[in-house]
Amino acid sequence: MKKQILEIIFDRFENWSKQFGFACNKGCAVCCTTDVSITAPEGELLLDYILGQHGVDWLSDKLSTIPTHRPLSQTTNEYAKACLEGREVEVNEKRLGGVCPLLVENICTVYPARPFSCRCFASIVCCRQGGNALLPPEYLSAATAVSQIIEHLGQFSLWGTLLDVVSLQAAAAGHISDRDRHQESLAAARGNCLTARPLPGFLIEDTVADQVIPLLEEIFASPIDGRSVEDLLNNR
Ligand code: SF4
Ligand code: SF4
Repeated sequence: MKKQILEIIFDRFENWSKQFGFACNKGCAVCCTTDVSITAPEGELLLDYILGQHGVDWLSDKLSTIPTHRPLSQTTNEYAKACLEGREVEVNEKRLGGVCPLLVENICTVYPARPFSCRCFASIVCCRQGGNALLPPEYLSAATAVSQIIEHLGQFSLWGTLLDVVSLQAAAAGHISDRDRHQESLAAARGNCLTARPLPGFLIEDTVADQVIPLLEEIFASPIDGRSVEDLLNNR
C-alpha cells in the first residue's frame, strides 16, 4: 500500500510541476550527490528495483561507499514542528556532496525508482557548470510539503541519506552481511539515521498557498482501492 501511495504522490507532483520550464536534461547530473535524503518506504521501493534490475552483487558494490558522518541534524517534519511551535531552529547541516554511486556515466541507474528528493531537485536556470539552482517559491513550498507527507508515510522508520537507509534495509533483509566489508559502513549508517516523524502541519506561506494547496488536495483525495490517500495516511 505504501508503494501505491508513493507512486500517486510522485505522479501528482510530476504533473503539477509541468507548469515550470526547468533547465534540467538527461545527462545533467551535478545535483546527484550523496546528500539525498529518503524515507523507509522510498528505500524499500529502491531496494526492490535494484535487486530486480541489477542484482545483489551490484548492490553490494554500490553500498561500499557510505558517508561516515551524519549530514542532517533533523528531519523535515522535525524542522516544521519547531517552526510551527515558534522554537528557534538551528540549521546545521553538513553537506558532503560526493557523487551518488548510483550515477553511472551521468545517468541514474535507478531512475524509475528514484526517491522524491531526486525527483524534486531541479532548476529554472542551468546550474550544470556551477552556481546555485534557482526555483520558484511555490515550487520550493510544494516540494517541502510533499516531502513532509512522504515522511509521515514512513513515520517511526528510518530517515536519512539514500545510502544509509538502503544499506540498513539491505542488511536487515540479509542482502549484505553485517560481518563482511560493510561492517564499518553499517555502524556509521546506524549512527547517521534519524527517525521519520508524523506530519505536524505545513509551512506554506500565504503568498503561494493558492498554487500549493490544490496539489496537496489532489494527492489527499486520490483513491486507492476505494479509500483516499488522506484516509490511508490517517489509518482510517
Ligand atoms: S538541477 Fe542543475 S545540475 Fe541538476 S539536472 Fe537541473 S540544471 Fe542540471
Ligand atoms: S538516485 Fe539517481 S537521481 Fe538520485 S542522486 Fe542518485 S543518481 Fe541522482
